[in-house]
Amino acid sequence: MKYGSRLQIVCLACVAVLFGAHRALGWELSHEEYHAAHLNELINLEEGPKNLLLPFNRTRIPGSEGSRDVQRFIIEHFNTTLAGEWAVETQPFEENGYRFNNLVMTLQNNASEFLVLAAHYDTKIVPTGMVGAIDSAASCAALLYTAQFLTHIARHERANQYSKLDVDPVITGSTLGVKIVFFDGEEAIEEWGPEDSIYGARRLAAQWLADGTMARVRLLLLMDLLGSGEEEPMVPSYYANSHQDYQLLNRIEDDLLFARDDGSTAQSPLAAEVARQRKLLDPTDYRFVGLGYSVVGDDHTPFLAAGVPVLHAIPLPFPSTWHTVQDDFQHLDAAETRHWTLLVCEFVVQSLRFRAQ
Ligand SMILES: [Zn+2]
Repeated sequence: MKYGSRLQIVCLACVAVLFGAHRALGWELSHEEYHAAHLNELINLEEGPKNLLLPFNRTRIPGSEGSRDVQRFIIEHFNTTLAGEWAVETQPFEENGYRFNNLVMTLQNNASEFLVLAAHYDTKIVPTGMVGAIDSAASCAALLYTAQFLTHIARHERANQYSKLDVDPVITGSTLGVKIVFFDGEEAIEEWGPEDSIYGARRLAAQWLADGTMARVRLLLLMDLLGSGEEEPMVPSYYANSHQDYQLLNRIEDDLLFARDDGSTAQSPLAAEVARQRKLLDPTDYRFVGLGYSVVGDDHTPFLAAGVPVLHAIPLPFPSTWHTVQDDFQHLDAAETRHWTLLVCEFVVQSLRFRAQ
């Protein structure tokens, strides 16, 4: 990376001081309270009945028992904890001698357009025993929490729909729905290539092109290789047509880290308690925005080819544990995982609010 992250934090802090309170977006108190009460308990590395991260601490090779157990865990989360709010779909199929299954969850099924959040839950066959902590257990756990958070808001809005709310309803008041996709078969079975990779993404893209869903996808936010805790590399913006969304995510991160009511640059209590206290996004990195093509092969490729704007949350170059047996939970940074979780939760809230009915 071109810029040291410490220098960058100092610069951003200076900008915040120079331009005052910098409260373009702001966090709502109720959301801060929710995260402060739940995030540490749900996303951490210690066993607990509500832990959303540790059930992914196993191999999840397509068609294996580990894969089926994790699928059951994900589906049960939506069918029990979040029951009634999400439509749960599965997309089982066979290819190249393996059985795959995409899991697709939808909030506000009757919405005209969708914000799609996605990560892959499968793991690579080789090296043997690799549990894919950053690839992509952390991202899957972040999405499970995001779903729980959105469910909390939706239920709160429904419970109060006949009384006067202080703020406009975010979820029930938006034309934008949310789909959360857990892709199977992102990894190559033998060697990465167009026919041996992103099995689930290719299958779902084909279905969405056939049934008209693709035209209703406003944005795909794809998370991958997050949670390493390594200071560099950071996550740059990759595409011109999603750069505004990248900037929104970046402003949300600035708000989390720097923006206070009194205009000070002191750390927010929430960030200090649960998140990484440094930038994970690098808005100064413009290497890829103007290229017009993908420099990283991943599940987004068939959606990008279909014209869907893609916000790809993936560091480049990849973290040092990538595709090694060291990509385990001892090398996973829970605070960074929570940091991403907070960014995605607020990103969804802000995106839905922009599409208020
Ligand atoms: Zn991988």
